[in-house]
Amino acid sequence: MLRDAGDGVLVHQSDFLQTNTVVVQGRAGVLLIDPGVRADEMVCLAGDLSDLGQPVVAGFSTHPHWDHLLWHASLGAPPRYGTARCAARVRDWLSDPRAKDRLPQLIPPDIIDQVPLDLLGQITGLPAGTERIPWDGPQIRIVEHQAHAQGHASLVIEERGVLIAGDTLSDVLIPLLDFGDTADPIEDYLAALRLIEGAADGFDVVIPGHGSPGEAGQIPARIALDRAYLHALRDAQPVSDPRVGPSATYDFVAGVHERQLQNLARRREN
Ligand SMILES: [Zn+2]
Repeated sequence: MLRDAGDGVLVHQSDFLQTNTVVVQGRAGVLLIDPGVRADEMVCLAGDLSDLGQPVVAGFSTHPHWDHLLWHASLGAPPRYGTARCAARVRDWLSDPRAKDRLPQLIPPDIIDQVPLDLLGQITGLPAGTERIPWDGPQIRIVEHQAHAQGHASLVIEERGVLIAGDTLSDVLIPLLDFGDTADPIEDYLAALRLIEGAADGFDVVIPGHGSPGEAGQIPARIALDRAYLHALRDAQPVSDPRVGPSATYDFVAGVHERQLQNLARRREN
């Protein structure tokens, strides 16, 4: 089901981790941002769009993680984009002959049979420094940063006051750090929050990659929540965050939090 997030922007939410697909209305069809997870959900979305008389004219993946890189043939075959860095990472990952064998370690076993992998990651990298998604619709600015994953893009639709956050600013998931090729994943994340804060000042709507869309006033609150979590990790202080612990939406987040603490402790020792 498509939910209206205001003024030509619709959200389709998967029941897998409340993953949000954003549908932006353009002049000749729609742009799909992070197309979805399960095949039946993408087929349902394709049906809803067809009922509305809206072809999919472009796709965009916010970052190089499997749940943001999927596609289904029923959505057609428009160009699909990501940042250059995102596309390069996906290319490196999928060119490893063992990548497909490792997917079961990434995708939960209860849904792996329902996840269409044929068109996984077939994205074109936009040249480094590209400021806007090339398409015939409202201007969508790319705010590239390195929080959570290298080559991550948060997107802002200035004329609509909508921030599409990617995997930051979730009300159900804590900041998930990328411990890959970076010296300081916490500082990378804090820098990203500063960029997002500047780009979305005064906006009305935030749509995270996972969780509930938030309305006016929620953006500063969510930035503050992510920042407080990161400051606690950085300063080795106790974490008090509604997304971890007894009030958490997802029990597994506590385990993820523990692993992040262990990873950081190991980094400090080395
Ligand atoms: Zn992710």
